[in-house]
Amino acid sequence: MDLTWSASEESFRAECRSWLEEHVPRPGLPSGDTSEGFALHLEWERLLHRDRWAVVSWPEAYGGRGASLWEWLIFEEEYYRVGAPQRVTQNGIFLLAPTIFEFGTPAQQDHYLTRMSSAEDLWCQGWSEPNAGSDLAGITSRAARDDAAGGWRLTGQKTWTTRGAFCTHLFGLFRTDPDAERHRGLTYFLVPLDAEGVTVRGFGRLDGDEGFAEVFLDDVFVPDGDTDPAGGGTLGAVDQGWGVAMATTTSERGLTLRSPGRFRATAGRLVDLAREVDASGCLSELVADRVADAWIDAEAYALFTLGDVTDIVEGRSPGARSSYNKIFWSELDVRLHEVALELLGADAELDGPWMKGYEFALSGPIYAGTNEIQRNIVAERVLGLPRK
Ligand SMILES: Cc1cc2nc3c(=O)[nH]c(=O)nc-3n(C[C@H](O)[C@H](O)[C@H](O)COP(=O)(O)OP(=O)(O)OC[C@H]3O[C@@H](n4cnc5c(N)ncnc54)[C@H](O)[C@@H]3O)c2cc1C
Repeated sequence: MDLTWSASEESFRAECRSWLEEHVPRPGLPSGDTSEGFALHLEWERLLHRDRWAVVSWPEAYGGRGASLWEWLIFEEEYYRVGAPQRVTQNGIFLLAPTIFEFGTPAQQDHYLTRMSSAEDLWCQGWSEPNAGSDLAGITSRAARDDAAGGWRLTGQKTWTTRGAFCTHLFGLFRTDPDAERHRGLTYFLVPLDAEGVTVRGFGRLDGDEGFAEVFLDDVFVPDGDTDPAGGGTLGAVDQGWGVAMATTTSERGLTLRSPGRFRATAGRLVDLAREVDASGCLSELVADRVADAWIDAEAYALFTLGDVTDIVEGRSPGARSSYNKIFWSELDVRLHEVALELLGADAELDGPWMKGYEFALSGPIYAGTNEIQRNIVAERVLGLPRK
């Protein structure tokens, strides 16, 4: 395997590096999980869109550059290397968009993808409910057919909706056939949050940010998917929502949400921190080894994902293999931050970025499907072990 980048890929890297170095806000923005920070992140998203860096791998018609997935990896590496702002549009551009590319009608693709890349529509994910987290098929929010109006009436409650209080739209699963088996009879819906009957109630996280919301739906009307997309609608076939949702979770657990650039950049900062500690003569051999191990793991993740990109480019879906990625990147993120806190010692409490990063890293083994669930998936679907 040839791991060298081509001349045109290197020139793409130089172009994005120079744009990012010129435009990335300094000092960095406040957390995008607060209302003030979210507004500033939105300005950044619109700047990215203006200069066509928001969704580099999408077709030009939707605001992209038609870049290859390899070039997307390069863009991500450069993005994290310069410490550019977190992507508050991520649930749309990284999770929902690949699903719309796969299942959306041409009218849905034109409408949603264009508005998503320009950050006009901001999407949150409505999977979890008070009694449906790991057991996603346990959802009870329902959609009742309204033939006279040509659509559906949604009723129920979603929770843990990241940045739901700041978003304009929600995608989620609703039960359309209450008599069907648990994984059947579900349909994937796209819902404008300003529709009549929607109530969004924000609530705070342990780290003080307001980034979560509960979304209540009370007889909310959305039209069928093949009508005007502006009012929301179904995505994919009615009662086939589980299969559509699995396309979204593959993106969430795998490469799309967490590209290796993110962890290589953190590993690079960890090495810089270790050098500073070493210069003051305080770096023990044991901690130095842990720094090296964490750095090697970030490189290993990057190499592993090259296999994923090869699969995708050659038309094979990573499918259940994305569960490996999810376990690996989430545990790696915790390790990188734990070692940093060890290096900082008692000063760790005073260090904003590493401490904040650590707190968020701790949630990695939970969101996008807990790591226990991912291990079940690997055991059953990748290794073919029997179900207990
Ligand atoms: C930072 C963050 C952001 C999130 N954002 C969103 C969002 O935007 N939209 C959204 O819909 N949800 C979101 N979630 C919710 C997340 O998807 C759920 O927390 C997750 O699916 C687990 O569900 P639960 O919290 O109900 O835990 P539970 O399902 O109750 O699980 C509790 C514990 O039991 C274990 N467990 C459960 N079942 C099994 C089993 N079969 N085998 C082995 N162990 C098992 C779990 O691994 C876990 O340790 C977010 C969560 C976090 C932490």
